[in-house]
Amino acid sequence: MNQLPILMYHGIEESTRQYPWAEEERPYVVSKDAFEGHLKKIMELGFKTLGLDDIRDFLHGAIEEKSIVLTFDDGHASHSEIVVPLLKKYRMQAIFFVPVNKVGQEGYVEWPHLAKMAEDGFDLGSHGMNHVPLTNLSEKDLYEEIVNSRKILEYHLSARVNSFSVPRGFCHVRLLQAIERHGYEFVFTSHYGVNTPRGRASDLKRICIKRDTSLSEVEQIMQGKIQAQKLMERAKEYVREHVKPETYDWLAAIKRRLTGGGKA
Ligand SMILES: [Zn+2]
Repeated sequence: MNQLPILMYHGIEESTRQYPWAEEERPYVVSKDAFEGHLKKIMELGFKTLGLDDIRDFLHGAIEEKSIVLTFDDGHASHSEIVVPLLKKYRMQAIFFVPVNKVGQEGYVEWPHLAKMAEDGFDLGSHGMNHVPLTNLSEKDLYEEIVNSRKILEYHLSARVNSFSVPRGFCHVRLLQAIERHGYEFVFTSHYGVNTPRGRASDLKRICIKRDTSLSEVEQIMQGKIQAQKLMERAKEYVREHVKPETYDWLAAIKRRLTGGGKA
């Protein structure tokens, strides 16, 4: 079956004290060595890394070869400092999602870096303004997050922005419809799974790669063998869809305290 896994990365680090991560970010930070191992595996297995235009082609059934998509959320400084040089080394494509109000803060990318990334041919999309859950916002705040983030990105990048990554994984159908209505062609979610032709560009499934994801797990994901993990991830999605973000964060903090790490 023709399928397209979309990997979701956050920060990458060369050494543990390189960047100022928040406690809840740490489980999502992948080491540079592990990340380079993933890229080597992608190359070794003959997968092509796709950008947004290729995803459109894939959804129309026009791409037959083994393919994968690399996405990077949150606009971390590591994206321009570590990820881009490695992607160039292996001649790979990727999509970066930027929370606009984080740009220029300590540990995050700056506008000239983003402009250079766009110039180098990488795809850039919006990750909202403030990196907050969008499921409970008023119409006005939602407009700010969805529409103004795009306008500001387009102004700084002098390029059209047509992709959005839903912040923090809180998502429901009405939110996806609102993002689509506001003119985005591609919406990347945290819905767990691989994509198939005739899937919806406005609800792209992704698989999160974490610090403790092993290379053999990454290889399984590349080949779409994800059944074992699916049930657990679906359960988390259900909770994120049906409880208030504050409640979810409260539960996640309790879980962290009890298990000594790991964001739900
Ligand atoms: Zn994020």
